[in-house]
Parts: sequence; C-alpha cells; structure tokens
Amino acid sequence: KLSKRLEAVAAELLTGSKMADIGSDHAYLPCYAVLRKIVKGAVAGEVVEGPYQSALAKVRECGLTDIISVRKGNGLAVIEPGEVDVITIAGMGGALIRDILDNGKEKLVGVKRLILQPNIGAHNIRKWLVEHDWELIKEIILKEDGKIYEILVAERGDGNAPYTTFREHGMLLGPFLLQEKSDVFVEKWMHEKQNLSRIFHQLEQAADTEENQKKKQEVLQKIALIEEVL
Ligand code: SAM
Repeated sequence: KLSKRLEAVAAELLTGSKMADIGSDHAYLPCYAVLRKIVKGAVAGEVVEGPYQSALAKVRECGLTDIISVRKGNGLAVIEPGEVDVITIAGMGGALIRDILDNGKEKLVGVKRLILQPNIGAHNIRKWLVEHDWELIKEIILKEDGKIYEILVAERGDGNAPYTTFREHGMLLGPFLLQEKSDVFVEKWMHEKQNLSRIFHQLEQAADTEENQKKKQEVLQKIALIEEVL
C-alpha cells in the first residue's frame, strides 16, 4: 500500500502516459502507477547506489522489468529528450527539486506535466516554474503521520492557468493553497510563523552586525507576510 502522500502524487499522473520518477528510492510510485494501469511505462531514476538497488529489487519483485526501466544517474540525466510525458520528483527539498529541473532543462522537451512534492521550500520551485514558462495548474497540501506535504502540478504554459505570475504571498505560500486556505495550510503557516519568531529572538541575542540586521529584517518581513494571510 502506498503512502497517502505518494497516492496523491499518483492521482495527478496523466492516464496512459509514460512517466519518469526521479529520486525513486524503492520505486513504489512507478510500480503502483504501472500495476494500477495509470501509466503505460516508467523510468525510475536514482543517483545513490543503495536506493537504486532497492528500486531494481522492487521492480523485479513486481515482475515489471519490461515496463519499468530502473536507471542510475543524477536527476534528469537518466532520461532522453522526448522519452516521457510526465515527471514526478517527490520527497526532497524544494531547492534540490529546482536544481534537478534546472540542470536538466533540455530533457524537458515533450514533457507535458511535472508533479513535484517538496518537503520544504516549495517557493523555490514556484519561482523556477514562472521563470521557465511552466504554469502551476494545481496545488495540494496534506498531512500524514504528523508531517505536512505540498504537491505542485505544472504544465507547459499556454497562458490559461489562473496564476501565470503571482505576487509575493502566492510565491511563498502557493496561490491555490492560499485561495483554499485549508486547516492543514493554516496549521503549517502558524507553525512556520512560530519558527520564524524563534529565529528572530535568537538573532536579537546575537551580535548586532549589519548582516544580522539584514537577516532580522528578512525574518520580520516573512512574518508580516504570513500574518497578512492567516
Ligand atoms: N521519491 C521517493 C518518495 O517520495 O518517497 C523517495 C524520496 S527519498 C527521501 C529521496 C531520494 O532521492 C533518495 O533516494 C535520493 O537518493 C534521491 N536523490 C537525491 N538527489 C537526487 C538526484 N539528484 N538525482 C536522483 N535521485 C536523487
């Protein structure tokens, strides 16, 4: 059985497509998607030997070696341009997901949809999407085992998405999530605000350098931004 988090990612796959799951670890997501006949084929990419072996073993165990190609390599280096329709990258920090996309830009030719699940720092991804003509078409926030996760779904820009550019609030908190303002969303940002307040107090105790001043200013700005929407 798949986690609620990965099930939510799988629900955004395009039916009948070919997917690449980057940082696949046990290849749970591609195995599930193929077994449920959501996708017709998959590439599972892993850069680390241990998880790569786990992916190989799982795909073999499921009898899917003909349909899921497990490949070892960094980010999008494991796929050819035009090879897949959908890319999933889940369970990593937002900055790492952004770097994987940015380093593999030329591999995104022909890719119709990105499904990205950052554990933290989703704003890094939103910013990258806007700058590279991808449009955010959906955002999901969910809680599982006490942790809060976000899922960002993006497609090639045709100018018809409700948010082609977003202001500061949308970039940090997510335009769809902000609109929806679910209980989980409020919980997440209340918590973030508490963390930022703690950081602010720590900065206040530290030496009063110019850098410290700047950091304090940034933290206060972020707190203000959050307070405006909660
Ligand atoms: N995607 C799975 C999930 O959401 O449950 C596994 C998440 S696991 C926490 C992150 C995986 O990404 C690790 O197995 C790690 O080796 C892999 N990874 C990290 N950086 C990577 C990169 N640049 N290219 C491919 N895989 C990477």
